This record gives sequence, structure tokens and C-alpha cells, in this order.
Amino acid sequence: MTSTARPLLNRRLAEFGTTIFAEMSALALSTGSINLGQGFPDTDGPEEVREAAVRALRDGRGNQYPPGPGIPELRTAIAAHQERRYGLSYDPDTEVLVTAGATEAIAAALLALVEPGDEVVALEPYYDSYAACIAMAGGTRVPVTLRPHEGSFRLDLDELRAAVTDRTRLLLINTPHNPTGTVLTREELTVIAELAVERDLLVVTDEVYEHLVFDEAEHVPLATFPGMRERTVTIGSAGKTFSFTGWKVGWISSAPGLVAAVRSAKQFLTYVASGPFQYAVAEALRLPDSYFADFRADMLAKRDLLAGGLERAGFKVFRPAGTYFITTDIRPLGESDGFTFCRALPERCGVVAIPNAVFYDHREQGAPFVRFAFCKRDDVLHEAAGRLRRLASAGS
Ligand SMILES: *Cc1c(COP(=O)(O)O)cnc(C)c1O
Repeated sequence: MTSTARPLLNRRLAEFGTTIFAEMSALALSTGSINLGQGFPDTDGPEEVREAAVRALRDGRGNQYPPGPGIPELRTAIAAHQERRYGLSYDPDTEVLVTAGATEAIAAALLALVEPGDEVVALEPYYDSYAACIAMAGGTRVPVTLRPHEGSFRLDLDELRAAVTDRTRLLLINTPHNPTGTVLTREELTVIAELAVERDLLVVTDEVYEHLVFDEAEHVPLATFPGMRERTVTIGSAGKTFSFTGWKVGWISSAPGLVAAVRSAKQFLTYVASGPFQYAVAEALRLPDSYFADFRADMLAKRDLLAGGLERAGFKVFRPAGTYFITTDIRPLGESDGFTFCRALPERCGVVAIPNAVFYDHREQGAPFVRFAFCKRDDVLHEAAGRLRRLASAGS
């Protein structure tokens, strides 16, 4: 009897059985809580982009299988975007690949580039799909932990260097970083790039929050550093930038050999996806700079609204330089375990958040940290801030 002889879920995936997001979203529903757990906006992106999708669908563009690498209009728009913003030039035909969101780009890149036994160095805490995709590829993940330092989570560059061995194949980088909101500086990126060149490593860099950087922070793509363009797979996505997370339009840009390798894996995952939406995203990427500036200003105001509320409720707040997440430390509230805290929070004050420990291999490192998403309507954030105030009055 197979069911008793061995578990149904294979050994590679056994540790990824269920996600905290399912548990927390169910809790949000059953308690009528405001869900600041999962990171998706509660309002859609620009009307003209939505209309572009409707037009494509009505005109019969993209309703059948689009070309495997993505429609030429979108690949051209992606290349133009990288050129306009960063001075990076890519050939839309050989150096750009459209994927089913950044999620598929991550999976395809790791499945294509990692041999069983290869080590993949990744920044911890990490986006939840990284660990699972490294495991599916048969790789070994080697976490380098971002640690709190003067109000933000920083990378220890010596630790990063020490993590690279003769078995290291690939660095998996994410900046702006989910869940900490850290944006790696030019100096930090320089060291990462030098290390990659010196040790001849491939780099996969998840830059889906490239347009969400605040204050003095600047997003600098790793591919712009010397020796990096030919070894770096850069991942982008329309979901976060244009507030259409359900459309699942992502992409990579890289050197021809790397794109061909990733395409080999991608063609057997989804093959293609999101036909009409590809046309709409091609238009979205050509929106004027004012769209991106307004989007950023809008999200910055939301960040400050929620950060202020969290501070008044008694949290220590790591005000993020990028993304739409705020990581907090719950110890000033007299708490130490994020899991316990998040499971109780809906009952206590009607808000759902995510314990950062789920993003760590070293769970104890993430224990006191809790993540809140601020990509929500202002009235929702105001209401959440008001509810969280109960923690301040309940404590002490
Ligand atoms: C949301 C997110 C993704 C997934 O992007 P999709 O385009 O929706 O697949 C990938 N990486 C990070 C860091 C994210 O936060």
C-alpha cells in the first residue's frame, strides 16, 4: 500500500507542506480581521492599462498561445525599460524572456542553472518560493542572514564571502528585499559583484520591487556592475509595479546563453501564459516617468501612515527603504515569539500579520520579527492603525 509505505509528498518538498499564508488568511476571514499578511494591493493599477488588456482580449490578441519567449511588443518594451532606466541594453529577441510572473522566472532559472548538489547562496530571510525552488532543483541552500543594524537589516559582507565554497554555483539576490525592506547599497552591490566575478558565480537577482524605493535609497541593478551583465539573470514583474498581481506577467533579462537555458526549463513549466495581459503590460512599461513617480509617492505615504500607527502601538519599526512591507520587532510589546503573537493578533485587535520566522532556515533568528503589508487603501490602514492601538493600552 503506497499510502502507508511512504509519504505522498516527496522528500524534496516535505518541509514545504503548507504555508503560513493559508492559515493566516483563513484566520483573517473567520475573525473579520484586516489582512495585512499577504502582499497584494486592494486597488487595481492604472485604468488605461486595464483598458489595454480589455482591448487586446476583444481584438483577439493573445487569446491563443502567444509565442514561447513572449510577444515581441512586450520583449521590446522590457528591453526599452531597462535601457531607459538603467542604461542596460538587451536584444529583445535573444536576451529577454517573458514568464508567468516572477515566480516562474525564479523556478525556471533555478531548475535550469542548478545541478543536484550545487550550493545556492541566498539572503535570509527569503521570499518563500526560493527555498522550495532550490529544493526542486536538487540544490543545497546556504543562507546568509540579514541582521538588524541601526534601524535596518544589513548584509554582513564577510559572512557572504565565507558562505561561498567550491560547490557554490549561484548567488540568489533580492533587492529591494522582501520581507525586510532593505535596499542594497551601491557599496554592498559592488562587493557582491566582485565576489561573483572572482569566484565565477552565476547570479539570479529578483528585482520585482525596483520601482518601490523610498527616501534616499536608489535601486541599482546588479547587471550594471563590471563583469556582471554576462553572468546575471535579472528578474522583473508587472505585478508589483503596476498593481496587477493577478495577471502574472514577469520576465528575465540576461545574456543569450543564460536566457536560452532558462527558456529550456520555462517551456516545460507553463510554456506560455497571460496572453492578452502581455499586450497591456507592453503599454504599461511605456507609461511616462510621472506614473512611476506618483506610484512611489503614493506608496511612501502609505508606508509612513502604517509605520506611524505601528510605532504608536508600541512596535519597533524598521522603516523600509523599499518594497511594500514593514518588518517590526515585537519585543518592546513584551512579546518574543512571532508565531504566537500573529496567531493571537486577530483575536486581540482584528489585524493579521505574518511572522518573519517563516522566511528563515534559522527560525530563532527571525522569531521576534513580524511583517505587515502597507499596499492597502488609506482608510484600511487608518482602521488597522486604530485597532493596533489596543496593544499599547492593553500592555503594561
Ligand atoms: C511578489 C514577489 C514575487 C512574485 O512575483 P509574481 O510576478 O507575482 O510571480 C517574487 N519575488 C518577490 C520578492 C516578491 O515579493
